[in-house]
Amino acid sequence: MAVKPRLFIAQELRKDLEFFLTDTQAHYLCHVLRLATGSFFLAFDGRNGEFECELSACGKKQATAKVLRQTRNFEKAPDIHLLFAPVKKDKTDFIVEKSTELGVSKIVPVITRRTISEKIKKERYTAQAVEAAEQCRRLDVPKVADARNLEAVLKEWDENRMLYYMDETGNGRPVAEVFAEDAGKHLPAAVLVGPEGGFDEQELELLRRQKYAKGVSLGKRILRAETAVAAALSCWQAICGDWK
Ligand code: SAH
Repeated sequence: MAVKPRLFIAQELRKDLEFFLTDTQAHYLCHVLRLATGSFFLAFDGRNGEFECELSACGKKQATAKVLRQTRNFEKAPDIHLLFAPVKKDKTDFIVEKSTELGVSKIVPVITRRTISEKIKKERYTAQAVEAAEQCRRLDVPKVADARNLEAVLKEWDENRMLYYMDETGNGRPVAEVFAEDAGKHLPAAVLVGPEGGFDEQELELLRRQKYAKGVSLGKRILRAETAVAAALSCWQAICGDWK
């Protein structure tokens, strides 16, 4: 097999450890991929790096594996959070997947006045973040926070963290300019993208009043929320993050 399967294991891994796979992981390796016992796969635990493992048993109910050797050391990812107003289901799925690939460390669903969304399903987002992290070879999985109102999020904000809110009204400064000005400071950061209906005037006013917040423009064209997420995070990674 050209590419080894890669799984997130929610327990600390170390050489020689034997561990149980979850039902879903066992089903995936043993039945979907039809790996035989003795096959190899990669695993990461979000703390200690990546390891090559051997599938030791594929039982009817349970599967076990053993850690053979470490393949990558753990590296801390850039400290960038994504705050987004949930949109329709498939678009929210896209946002969770793409922001994980683009290296966010935390995903925070934020309810704004114009947020229209189906139920916010934290478990679903978490499962998608795990899947995207496995696929893109990250060494950790972004945390998914509980959904909260914008006002509540701002009230509890850690003022050391820069908040870049994507302002579609044309009042924000160009994204590259704003990020370049902060790039050397290596501050923890967050990107906030509004709902399809945009932020309302009171929300923008509230954001403008925060010392740690900067309004940013992604150009003249109005982007869909999911496009704005990908664009803003790509710019941040290129200018302030680990694409440099
Ligand atoms: N309904 C609004 C557009 C909202 S787009 C309107 O027609 O004006 C959804 C979100 O994407 C916005 O709240 C904003 O955060 C972000 N966004 C889209 N285009 C943008 C741009 N050109 N600059 C900055 N942010 C943008």
